[in-house]
Amino acid sequence: MGKICRRCLLSDISKEQYEALIVEGLKALPPEDLVDGYSCSKRLEICRECEKLNEGTCLACGCFVEIRAALKKGRCPYNKW
Ligand code: SF4
Repeated sequence: MGKICRRCLLSDISKEQYEALIVEGLKALPPEDLVDGYSCSKRLEICRECEKLNEGTCLACGCFVEIRAALKKGRCPYNKW
């Protein structure tokens, strides 16, 4: 059995799933609902260090963090960003 990285984003785990779920999901959203790339990556840096990150999802809310971090209305349930 392969080792599972719990502190990884989906983009680190499966490029195919990342494309299908995250990239396609974000394309379906209005651009005005999204933060800029720099703000999104700063949020994801915090998620990477968080004990709640589990294979690209947040254990506190169940979302894909790469979607939540890209949304202007996205909030960390623990107010880390
Ligand atoms: S959204 Fe918040 S609680 Fe969830 S993984 Fe990111 S920093 Fe952790």
